[in-house]
Amino acid sequence: MSPGQPPGAAHASAAGASAAGAGAAGAGAAGTSAGGAGAAGLDPRRDPELAVDVLLQALPYIERFRGAVVVVKFGGNAMGDPELFAQFASDVVLMHRVGMRPVVVHGGGPQIDEWLEKLGKESEFVGGRRVTDAETLEIAQMVLMGKVNTDIVTALNGFGPLALGLAGTDAHLLEAEVHDPELGFVGAVRKVNPELIVRTLAMDLIPVIATIGVDLDGQAYNINADDAATAIAEELGAEKLIFLTDVPGLLADANDPSSLITRVDGADVARMISDGTISGGMVPKMSGCVRAIGHGVGSVHLIDGRRPHVLLLELLTDAGVGTMVAAAPPQQESAR
Ligand code: ADP
Ligand code: MG
Repeated sequence: MSPGQPPGAAHASAAGASAAGAGAAGAGAAGTSAGGAGAAGLDPRRDPELAVDVLLQALPYIERFRGAVVVVKFGGNAMGDPELFAQFASDVVLMHRVGMRPVVVHGGGPQIDEWLEKLGKESEFVGGRRVTDAETLEIAQMVLMGKVNTDIVTALNGFGPLALGLAGTDAHLLEAEVHDPELGFVGAVRKVNPELIVRTLAMDLIPVIATIGVDLDGQAYNINADDAATAIAEELGAEKLIFLTDVPGLLADANDPSSLITRVDGADVARMISDGTISGGMVPKMSGCVRAIGHGVGSVHLIDGRRPHVLLLELLTDAGVGTMVAAAPPQQESAR
């Protein structure tokens, strides 16, 4: 359980919260309770009292996060399934509707891979980051800005005129520099210029950000979306940074999904990176988590984007989902 969560909030079951999310997204929770009283079970759509209970349980969380900037990193691996993609969109819209200020930062690695393959180009990774020559950069830009960003914005705008697509190249939003010459046009974030995000939020819109950055000479770079989400959350002083990925959270054994670690701190992460327990794309992700928590981000969570309505589970219930990254071991941490 996150220390950042309101104390005393009643526990909502995963099933209850899921169904509440679906109801709020348009399924019409009330008015469907007619027959089958005895068989209603735990379905709030059949049991209006349960529906009300679920809403009341969410209330402390809604109050706590009203106005809060919540940066959500949507991983390319978590976007594959159309149903989950639609649920992600409705969850982000629900966050916005209850007064949070979500900022979506997205990756698109698998989608870039797919297009590189279609075009007959091989991908190479070093330390979890893609080696990017000029042609790969061009394809990454087309896929991230032209396809993935547009798909997310379109899904969100299916609920109303709510989302605005941005790229790190817009108004120098993500100023980049060479990350490592060995990686080609892979950028490290030199600076985040947050004005465009701040103005978008002030217009009550949801910014959706593709992580292509630009240097001061106008050269574009592909930036790892975890690095970008971390830097953006830090610059905004976000209340929360949530990484949606394709594993249950940080695992003690990457091949064993039941080995979930529910809480880690910086020392744990450093040890697990050096002994190889954390590898591949998890390296920039966990390094980012630790950096963010040390730089003013309220709380950082790594959660399973394949789990239905996992965002609402994390934000509006006290069901402990995924991995929470802590600033320090429990005994050194003051209650927040
Ligand atoms: P994304 O950035 O789209 O969420 P990545 O592939 O970059 O996805 O990072 C997630 C991947 O990291 C997981 O699918 C898993 O294969 C890998 N990984 C490496 N070490 C670990 C670990 N200790 N726990 C969980 N996942 C790990
Ligand atoms: Mg990644």
